[in-house]
Amino acid sequence: MSTSTPEITIDPIGCTGCESCAEVCPECFAMQDGTGLAVVREPLPDPIPDCLNEAIICCPTQCIHVEYPPESTS
Ligand code: SF4
Repeated sequence: MSTSTPEITIDPIGCTGCESCAEVCPECFAMQDGTGLAVVREPLPDPIPDCLNEAIICCPTQCIHVEYPPESTS
């Protein structure tokens, strides 16, 4: 069964590496060794946990972007 998994991206220029997203929603975000910036986990959990929205709100630079695919009309 296909679900509408959102595409989550982090603007690397905006990310300060504050770790808030990874603390609030470790299911979706992790901190990358080396760069110290946040990365989106792959694969994302299905269903997407509610903490994704908390992480978006917590991000001090609002650099987490979520795009939901258009509904399939097939
Ligand atoms: S909360 Fe935002 S700024 Fe902080 S690590 Fe996550 S993506 Fe980067």
